[in-house]
Amino acid sequence: MTEENTSRLPSIVKSENEREQQVLDALKNVIDPDFGENIVNCGFVKVLKATEDGQVAIVLELTTPACPVKDEFNRLSKEFVRRLEWVKEVDVIMTAAPKSNMLDVPEAPPGLRGVKNIIAISSCKGGVGKSTTCVNLAMTLMQMGAKVGIFDADVYGPSLPTMVSPEFEKLEMSKDGAITPVEFEGVKIVSFGYAGQGSAIMRGPMVSGLVNQLLTTSEWGELDYLLLDMPPGTGDIHLTLGQVVPITAAVVVTTPQKLAFIDVDKGVRMFAKLEVPCVCVVENMSTFTGDDGKVYRPFGKGSGRSICDAYDIPHLIEMPIEPGLSSGGDSGIPMTLSDPTGPIAALYTEIGACVVREVAKINSGRGPTAFLDPDRRGCLKVQISDVDDGKPFYVSGASVRKSDQSARVKNSNESPDVLLNGQKVPDDLEPVSVATVGNYAVSITWPDGFSQVAPFRVLRTLPRI
Ligand code: ADP
Repeated sequence: MTEENTSRLPSIVKSENEREQQVLDALKNVIDPDFGENIVNCGFVKVLKATEDGQVAIVLELTTPACPVKDEFNRLSKEFVRRLEWVKEVDVIMTAAPKSNMLDVPEAPPGLRGVKNIIAISSCKGGVGKSTTCVNLAMTLMQMGAKVGIFDADVYGPSLPTMVSPEFEKLEMSKDGAITPVEFEGVKIVSFGYAGQGSAIMRGPMVSGLVNQLLTTSEWGELDYLLLDMPPGTGDIHLTLGQVVPITAAVVVTTPQKLAFIDVDKGVRMFAKLEVPCVCVVENMSTFTGDDGKVYRPFGKGSGRSICDAYDIPHLIEMPIEPGLSSGGDSGIPMTLSDPTGPIAALYTEIGACVVREVAKINSGRGPTAFLDPDRRGCLKVQISDVDDGKPFYVSGASVRKSDQSARVKNSNESPDVLLNGQKVPDDLEPVSVATVGNYAVSITWPDGFSQVAPFRVLRTLPRI
């Protein structure tokens, strides 16, 4: 059974047939940990047959082939169904039909139409390990069963060509101008490093144009995840890329130094403005193990935790300094391939699993929302499924603004009670615009020009009006 022939079938949530209904009831014991809902109500059951002689066949269609709990679903489904006394044999087939964000974008370039999710891998400075993270994450997602691509958006210093070693190191262009990515271990890769001529003399706007062109004229085929290895910083290229293609989520890579907090804060805000949620912070080079076997923190206790707390980013992964990561980068064989069962690969699997899970949650459209209600000006209307049974509630604009926890407040003498012009926040302060960012926050623009990222974790605690 393949995804093509299950994706058009309706989900089975109840059956007239008594035995099939018993099977469905048994399957309701299997809970998807991310949605907090059983797999029947999640709509995963696509085919169900129960015969008189006790044979049961079930097809479960998940939202991603890289689902980190798919083996568990398979095992538990069999276990619960086998408990029915008439059941002799259970056959469970797992398929996946990921939702495509691209389908929502009618003007999506043809080469990108088969791409289900675009994930930005970003850092605010060079040299923090962004490309290392991107390449190893790509290999991990591929090992988890997904179809993966990497777009190296760095024109000036593309690092992909030294980090992987594809058989053919040149992008081919077809007669109609479409670019065929190079392939490494089944991962499709497009990088300026494979495009021939260097481009070191180009200036900003030319570069963004070129980046867009290379991304959108590439023939990516069917991909579950296309990873964008972003250039460092928060410049032109990020903004244009964010407008040209719908980025589903971002992974932010940082190092533990205190100063990095302000930079990463800037990055998270930039993505929030583009309505892209950051689902994971990778604090790279956070520890190393000395010859004495002790674990040291050469840069001190990191800022990753503060960022995750301030913006309610669901995952923080601390990646140690590991000589194998660096030599793997130089040799063209990423460590997740050369040592797939080692502790470093396990950490990348953790990053992969959190990307897969958070993206599935974002695509399910079941997340919280906040918006402006024209009938109640100066307020935010918030809806969170586990607050008041999902009924909307209102909080005042002023209380939201005063709850700001950004670097602006943390690293300066500024108070959240004053506007950027130094005046006190008035009680009737009205947001200019509000946009939900993934499942974790809202991005709010205020009349004084300040743009705030307010996590739902904070909104749910504010006084209701
Ligand atoms: P960026 O993409 O942020 O510029 P890179 O991924 O190119 O950074 O990494 C910079 C250098 O640091 C590379 O030589 C890489 O191999 C090395 N490196 C990255 N992460 C680690 C790590 N956790 N341990 C050891 N070396 C690392």
